[in-house]
Amino acid sequence: MTGGRTIAVLLSAGCLAISGSYTAAEAVNSEGVQTTAGVVADVNGQPKASLNGPKSTVPTGNEAKGKGTRQTRSRVAIIIDDFGNGMKGTDEIFSLPIKLTVAVMPFLPTSQQDAKRAHERGDDVLVHLPMEPKSGRPEWLGPGAVLAKMTDAEVRQKVEAALENVPYAIGINNHMGSKVTGDPRIMGIILAVCKERGLFFVDSKTNYRSVVGQVAQEIGLPRVENHIFLDDVHTASHVRKQMRLVQERALNQHYCVTIGHVGVQGKNTAAGIRGGIEDMKNTVDFIGISDLVKEEWKWAPKPTLP
Ligand SMILES: [Zn+2]
Repeated sequence: MTGGRTIAVLLSAGCLAISGSYTAAEAVNSEGVQTTAGVVADVNGQPKASLNGPKSTVPTGNEAKGKGTRQTRSRVAIIIDDFGNGMKGTDEIFSLPIKLTVAVMPFLPTSQQDAKRAHERGDDVLVHLPMEPKSGRPEWLGPGAVLAKMTDAEVRQKVEAALENVPYAIGINNHMGSKVTGDPRIMGIILAVCKERGLFFVDSKTNYRSVVGQVAQEIGLPRVENHIFLDDVHTASHVRKQMRLVQERALNQHYCVTIGHVGVQGKNTAAGIRGGIEDMKNTVDFIGISDLVKEEWKWAPKPTLP
């Protein structure tokens, strides 16, 4: 095994180990109670029904269920994590026929190449920022990680360096991070850097007790979070099943944010997503996270840096 290969395996194992600490059912159930209420309350006071947009002729699931009409089709943003180290499934993910959000880890051999490739495909790019988990080996984090013991200045330096390393990034999401996303001091710094630069932060929700949403709201950033992990079980059939949950959630809530991974089982994730796209293409639109944030959260970046 080469050094690079070792990192590839460990990174993926690390991220999925944390991601997989919630079962799909737990993620959906806990989010269903907690997030639905939170999101409805923080759309800058705008009720969902007031969303503007062209009226779709395609009935949504809500109309079918008689819960009222929506003015636009439901939207799904698929984020794929752990790019940057030539991971398995990279080509298969990049060949999917929809707009994706590609989360790239900094300072790795293909960080810049993957970000450029995503940008050329028209995908959104996020910095997939390594952040300390509650448990798990430090080497799973990869280079440039934010750790709980760091000073304010050190945290800021890590975030700025990661943003400078990954071109085209329009936001950040967390790699691992179950410890750090529960730390208001550190999240305050990370989100302040986002705000200065006109970026936003997507909470991957590796920690049920994350403070990211609350801190984001306090400083005037959109409260964006993952609803469903696609590949907590690494088979294509499971991923396709998770895509059905994504569809249900999108039809009920008008949108859904979901996360999958490249890595050891990345080809399975890609195959499951491809099947799910076939199942869902007549009922939902697949969009990048930046459009979702602008449309659902009515967010307009106001960078304060010169
Ligand atoms: Zn990750």
